[in-house]
Amino acid sequence: ECFGTNYDYSFKVLLVGDSAVGKSSLLHSFITNCQQLPQDLAPTIGVDFKIKLLTIGGKKLKLTIWDTAGQERFGMLASSYYRGAHGIFLVYDVTSRETFTNLSKIWAKELDLYCSNPDCIKILVGNKVDMDSARAVAMEEGLAFAKKHKCLFHECSAKTQENVNECFKELAVKILEVP
Ligand code: GDP
Repeated sequence: ECFGTNYDYSFKVLLVGDSAVGKSSLLHSFITNCQQLPQDLAPTIGVDFKIKLLTIGGKKLKLTIWDTAGQERFGMLASSYYRGAHGIFLVYDVTSRETFTNLSKIWAKELDLYCSNPDCIKILVGNKVDMDSARAVAMEEGLAFAKKHKCLFHECSAKTQENVNECFKELAVKILEVP
């Protein structure tokens, strides 16, 4: 999967959602070690980003995936984080109702404010399904949110890796389908 700077498409993908829902863990479990941006390129606005190379339908894709590195309080990310995004992960923790309600209260609004690309593909991700006994948000509620906000939807676990690759791949496939 390592093909250096040789790629057909380059996409910017963001992770948003409350602190501790597992954004960094999702990114970490998806990223292979074959390529990483030099740390000195990390912008000063408090984000971290990593590169993932994928081949989909014979096309080589470079995903630059931005993570907030803890600066996710409302208003902190602002427009530079969202600018030019092709895809956005809206992440909540299935064992925390608050992280789910904050998606409507905070994150959906922030997206409306700052995400200027009308073709941006969104994916709602309910993380930590490995802790099903502590579940606080039903899958049906995730589905309803996704329908209302026109998002793709998956539940996954960064801990067990269940569904993690699928989330990123499905997002990439949908981004590729944008005319
Ligand atoms: P972030 O603040 O959204 O980037 O969240 P982190 O990736 O730092 O994760 C917060 C905490 O949740 C850490 O202790 C992780 O180990 C834990 N965590 C993340 N993903 C999962 C998961 O899928 N299952 C479980 N059980 N714990 C997870």
